[in-house]
Amino acid sequence: MRTKIVATIGPASENEDVLRQMIRAGMSVARLNFSHGSHDDHKRRLDLVRRVAREENMYVAVMGDLQGPKFRVGNLPKEGIKLNNGEIVTFSCNEVANTDHIPMPHPELIHAMQPGMRVLIDDGVLMLRVVDTTTELARCIVTAGGNLLSRKGVSVPGSKLSVSSMSDKDREDLKFMLRIGIDAVALSFVRNADDLRELKALIQVYVPNKAEQPLVVAKIEKPEAVTDLATILKVTDVVMVARGDLGVEALPQEVPFYQKKIIRACGRAGIPVITATQMLQSMTDAPTPTRAEATDVANAVLDGTDAVMLSAETASGHFPIESIQMMAAIAEHAEREEDKLAAKDRRKWRLKKTDNLNVSGPDEVTEAITHAAVDVANDIGAVAIVCMTHSGLSARMIARHRPNIPIIALAAAQRAYKYSAFIWDAKPISVEFSGDVDQAFESAARITKENGYAKIGDRVVIVSGVPLGRGVGSTNICKVQPVI
Ligand code: PGA
Ligand code: MN
Repeated sequence: MRTKIVATIGPASENEDVLRQMIRAGMSVARLNFSHGSHDDHKRRLDLVRRVAREENMYVAVMGDLQGPKFRVGNLPKEGIKLNNGEIVTFSCNEVANTDHIPMPHPELIHAMQPGMRVLIDDGVLMLRVVDTTTELARCIVTAGGNLLSRKGVSVPGSKLSVSSMSDKDREDLKFMLRIGIDAVALSFVRNADDLRELKALIQVYVPNKAEQPLVVAKIEKPEAVTDLATILKVTDVVMVARGDLGVEALPQEVPFYQKKIIRACGRAGIPVITATQMLQSMTDAPTPTRAEATDVANAVLDGTDAVMLSAETASGHFPIESIQMMAAIAEHAEREEDKLAAKDRRKWRLKKTDNLNVSGPDEVTEAITHAAVDVANDIGAVAIVCMTHSGLSARMIARHRPNIPIIALAAAQRAYKYSAFIWDAKPISVEFSGDVDQAFESAARITKENGYAKIGDRVVIVSGVPLGRGVGSTNICKVQPVI
């Protein structure tokens, strides 16, 4: 399987045997969702993932997902309160329960509401429209009623909030993630590149050494982030199409097209992208997916996603192992069929010679060398493209061309290793090269063979920077290497 699988770890999967089976079935990133659970829960899950992955001789990156500024209604009676269609209800920024008012302890949200705006509760299960507001109250008419329970999420699409993209809880969670050594931090409700710069600045304070910093994942769940996508792609390491909240902030029918647009932009930029949420939702309770879900996973692969993600399916569902196995089976099948269908014009939109990134300096050289490497490998029938990478950049730049042979990431640094977990097809192998170039290239080919990606008599294409060991951004050579 060339597509990567991200799986959320929760009560259903924090069991050694379950986790082992999930890793064997193809999970390459474990997601810890900081919207739920305590720090102790997350630490325990991280330790378990690290231990089982080590025992399995597999690398699994751990991604911490910050909740972001998610607004919730306050506490309500246990049985909830019934909202009837056409009824006018009043939200109050007072936390204290009151028979006339529904508590919504977020004054900034009430201030940002304007008459006519939609209010969606519980991912749009309940809907209202703002009638009018005062400084403390918002009167709304119920347009899709139902039973409202305590602490359900609230969103008001189109409202402009001037709050930071990170709440106090997010800041505490981030500090904790950095302390326990998480590999990637996902930021929810990103509005623009500045939100990511703010996160990166905080990371820089606590982890000054760049090489040790976690990757940053931009969760695109607001339409305004799509508007600023070009800039976001210059700042972020990874992108997530967070379809759950995107379908609340925008309209459900817009989600498939946002997905395609975002994946395409990431493909061009060489930024790995995760397609997330509800992919196999019904497998939370059933051992097989709906046909619509199977089609959704396959379509995400055909759209060009690097990774697909499972949330409740593996965190709290009844079939966490089966969900990964099913996801892997669907992705593998889609990859095979696509190869057959599109052998001629595979990823046409990525392979155009003119489709460069408008970068300069070392990135420009890396872009040109990796592009050439994919062409050379194609022309001579090489069996693998091997990149010696420190930061993961050359692996990303090869993956963006979606070559039809394996991408071997000989990772000389931890960052390249982490990054490979998110990059389409990148198969990380840990090695440190220095000294004699010819010897290093020979051993790169030998390692590729020893890992089962080549046999004697084959040729591989190697992408590297010489002299060796100069670190990030030194890619400058592409070599055809016989496997002996
Ligand atoms: P969440 O993000 O699961 O943290 O809400 C993903 C999404 O909104 O799709
Ligand atoms: Mn979300």
